[in-house]
Amino acid sequence: MLIVMHAGASADQVRAVEERIRALGFQAHTIAGTERVAIAVTGNRVPIDPAEFESLPGVREAVRVTKPYRLVSRESRPADSVVEVGGRPIGGGGVCVIAGPCAIESEMQALTIARIVAQGGADFFRGGAFKPRTSPYSFQGLGIEGLRILGRVRRETGLPVITEAVDEESMALVEEFADAVQIGARNMQNFALLKRAGKSRLPVFLKRGLSATLEELLMAAEYVFSEGNRRVFLCERGVRTFADHSRNTLDLAIIPSVKALSHLPILVDPSHGTGRRDKVLPLALAAVAAGADGVMIEVHHEPHKALSDGPQAILPEQFSTLMRDIRELARLVGRERKSVPAS
Ligand code: PEP
Ligand code: MN
Repeated sequence: MLIVMHAGASADQVRAVEERIRALGFQAHTIAGTERVAIAVTGNRVPIDPAEFESLPGVREAVRVTKPYRLVSRESRPADSVVEVGGRPIGGGGVCVIAGPCAIESEMQALTIARIVAQGGADFFRGGAFKPRTSPYSFQGLGIEGLRILGRVRRETGLPVITEAVDEESMALVEEFADAVQIGARNMQNFALLKRAGKSRLPVFLKRGLSATLEELLMAAEYVFSEGNRRVFLCERGVRTFADHSRNTLDLAIIPSVKALSHLPILVDPSHGTGRRDKVLPLALAAVAAGADGVMIEVHHEPHKALSDGPQAILPEQFSTLMRDIRELARLVGRERKSVPAS
């Protein structure tokens, strides 16, 4: 941490800051500039809260120079990590596609959509059995029956399945049936759930919170890592802004930012990111062009009958168009799927 003093800070104020640093057990290194004094802090093993110093007289600001996340940082692992889900790689240069309905509604619905997306070339099947819904009166998912259906989807199509856990109880059930567990936007800072996911044998698909910063997203991933689970892949799914032409604002700038700061794969979900079927294809392609490791797409053969998120579900023919376009775009930008061993 670097503590920058006000231009007119007195020698006593500088001394008080140095003493406070030493009292905390750290070392203070005072640097006299032409206009102001700065004091570097070393010796701390964990990040210091800037508020520790910012309230002291004469202090202008306290700036963190080391990142609060470690294990997920690019410094801790310069090479991209590749997360294997059901034997298939996520990250490492290829573009993967996770597709399926928002929610598992019935065996017939799930299998119909799974066959469509498998045929179209999807790599993974998604579908919620436990749905975090804004209204308690909305469809909450089929629960364990939904998980059993996912098991049948995997057997029939060979696609690894990814589904959400909303609490510790559903996490234990998801572990029995799925190839990866999703932690949804609303639970990105559910620290008990993140710690539980950190003890899971399953890879964790961690979605960005509705108004989470990049640092908060990486800190959430750090929670999982810190408990021992190093198989995490991230998802940008749009954040809340003033814009009302779209359900959320899809923040594609986060892709290069994640790549710069972290070794984790980052996928993009243009379905929740836009909320409208007509916007899903263009933004999925934009995500691939911007360097995403994959996309997650909600698909439904009868979206008008969907029990959740019908307006953003794309139709089967749109899905095959999208897959064709992703393949062509991936080739163009040198992102064809390679068989990269997980690490
Ligand atoms: C989902 O993927 O089904 C979902 C509920 O997404 P989010 O948590 O991003 O809203
Ligand atoms: Mn959904």
